[in-house]
Amino acid sequence: MPGEPALRAIMRRLRVIMAEPGDGQERLNKIVRQVAGLMVAEVCSIYLKRQDSMLELFATEGLNIEAVHQTRLNRGEGLVGRCAELAAPVNVPEVRDHPAFSYRPETGEEAYHSLLAVPILRAGALLGVIVVQNQTRREYTDEDVEVLQTTAMVVAEHLVSGDVAGAIGDGTGERASTTLMQGEAISDGIALGHAVFHQPRVVVSELLAVDPVAEAARLERAVSALRNAIDTMLESDTMSRAGAHRDVLEAYRMFAYDRGWLRRMQEAVEEGLTAEAAVERVQNTTRARMLRQSDRFWHHRLRDLDDLADRLMRILSGKTQAAFEDMELPSDTILVARNMGPAELLDYDRSKLRAVVVEDAGAQSHVAIVAKALGLAAVGQIPGLIERVAAGDAVIVDGETGEVHLRPSPDIVAAYSDKVRLRARRQEKYRELRTEPARTKDGETITLLLNAGLIVDMPNLSETGADGIGLFRTELHFMIASTFPRVNQQTDFYRQVIEQADDKPVVFRVLDIGGDKALPYMRQPVEDNPALGWRAVRLALDRPGLFRLQVRALLRASVGRELRLMIPMITSVEEFRSAKTLIEREQALAVARGESIPDRVLVGAMIEVPSILFVLDELLLETDFISVGSNDLLQYFFAADRANPLVSGRYDPLSVPALRALRMISEAAARHAVPLTLCGEIGGGPIAAMALIGLGYRAISMAPAAIGPVKAMLLGLDTAAVSALMTDCLSQNSAVDVRAELRKFSAEHDIEI
Ligand code: PEP
Ligand code: MG
Repeated sequence: MPGEPALRAIMRRLRVIMAEPGDGQERLNKIVRQVAGLMVAEVCSIYLKRQDSMLELFATEGLNIEAVHQTRLNRGEGLVGRCAELAAPVNVPEVRDHPAFSYRPETGEEAYHSLLAVPILRAGALLGVIVVQNQTRREYTDEDVEVLQTTAMVVAEHLVSGDVAGAIGDGTGERASTTLMQGEAISDGIALGHAVFHQPRVVVSELLAVDPVAEAARLERAVSALRNAIDTMLESDTMSRAGAHRDVLEAYRMFAYDRGWLRRMQEAVEEGLTAEAAVERVQNTTRARMLRQSDRFWHHRLRDLDDLADRLMRILSGKTQAAFEDMELPSDTILVARNMGPAELLDYDRSKLRAVVVEDAGAQSHVAIVAKALGLAAVGQIPGLIERVAAGDAVIVDGETGEVHLRPSPDIVAAYSDKVRLRARRQEKYRELRTEPARTKDGETITLLLNAGLIVDMPNLSETGADGIGLFRTELHFMIASTFPRVNQQTDFYRQVIEQADDKPVVFRVLDIGGDKALPYMRQPVEDNPALGWRAVRLALDRPGLFRLQVRALLRASVGRELRLMIPMITSVEEFRSAKTLIEREQALAVARGESIPDRVLVGAMIEVPSILFVLDELLLETDFISVGSNDLLQYFFAADRANPLVSGRYDPLSVPALRALRMISEAAARHAVPLTLCGEIGGGPIAAMALIGLGYRAISMAPAAIGPVKAMLLGLDTAAVSALMTDCLSQNSAVDVRAELRKFSAEHDIEI
């Protein structure tokens, strides 16, 4: 079939059909007839979605006419149902070979071998499916897909006008039925609310251009504005130093300048589409083509292209960022984004936000960090999210399991409402514990500290009743900045932290950057194993400029007080000594300059690399305190990447070898009477915290949400009894299930876990 003329011809004929008088059904009948003829297909049918979510045959050329309004398919049933389910084209040269094939005798479709189905979509909502079938085996081309997609867009518009009896009348749609999407839980919490796009998608309302020449000029202007914006972004001062990040942006620029992309959009405009409709159609076709590739490289590129198309659409519609900023947020906003840059979440009014769902974000992403700090439920890693959600959709976000329910049915809403109520009741109980001293049943005081990293974390101190900040991750401030924070800015920031902590102690962990914690504005080498690479103290010692500026700012912010500094990733005593020398040099310099300095500076080491376990006695002679970073310690100990879900769950932090290592540390600290804290994630679980107390730990630093549950646990705990249990468990062979023993122990002693 000559593709190019067919595209043009379909546009012309669709235009005529839409202009002719007649009711909705008549128009659908004409459309299927024209498409079948033009695509040289024996069959063309349109299935539309009914109120009950079934797909009903609404018009056909080639199938038994009696089947119209009789044949109904469930979503997911047969190849048509599969197209609806995937919301993507289904192109099958031999239907009988396809596992999803299902045959409906009343339609008389047994004679047909090949099938091409494309979804009829509007703003992410499925309205129906349009299908062509052929008697002979046929490989439908990309151009065939384009013809059908163009028709689907026109049909969607036609439905919006609302004159197709029995179909989804208002066109914006009975939304697709409940959809459950599984992602990765990146910030704890459960929320029910309504979807708001972080960068709202533009819905194409005018498909057919009145003046194709003017339309072509609009497209050209918009593309050139897009290219200029990207060039400016890349040439800006900060981006020119962006290192590996810059390569990604260069690839993005390459796509923006891609001649094939522009040509395809221009052709669509020449055929009679508006510029917006052309962008959408080319994007739909490209998406379908790229999703057929199994190589993940193309899936990543697809994100770039989707993002470019979104930007172009916003330029065409005049809906730039500034216009979105004035947007009125509903009070139960669930923010939906393809991806989110550093600090963008902080621009929203927290009181309106319930949760965030981000297609591309992982647990270590900036948005995850900020969501945690704000106490917002968040789920990431959901491919296809943006295509499935429409603004205003009801959404449930489960930050415990990583599930996202779109348009939930009433029973799911009821189940989750109960879950939310239960959580709220528990939170209320924990709030009441806030002022209770964290003292065990046998009178041992346990210091409960918070992990923090942003100013928004600070109110958590008074809200949880924690004793101080056991880990302030200073790199977060750097990671969400767009340029390197200057010394004065850093000093102001640390001063605010100290002031907001009131008189509670704050342990500042100096920059733990490098490796996978990249700063977008800092050039760094690309490493094969970033977690084992040039990061944290290694970078500080090799390039001391950055480290010394940070220490200078921290010294200035702590004048007249005690400053606690903690060095990450210490692998040898010598490394700790070198870092300490740099700090002392900065202090001496301040004195020489006549500046005031802190009353006292305490320097501690993080215990997070196994090699340091075997020289603890030497290290402890030189440190003022130590803190176990169990996240890293366990990943290096078990050789299992903490960020890789395939391996991160393979080991149990409460297994015998891990607990023996943790005991080694607490025994060494006790021998030297050096204060010891643990600040990794494991300290936030009541069972693990119980084990730690049994191993001699008396200070634990954790996420704000963990303080209540851990305190509730320790109020009923007898430290002597749990120590005896741990001694017993660790003297057995490694098959002992310590977790099960701890559970049994807590049940027997009525301890809340
Ligand atoms: C750790 O490794 O346990 C730790 C607290 O540091 P981070 O999670 O920031 O690496
Ligand atoms: Mg660490």
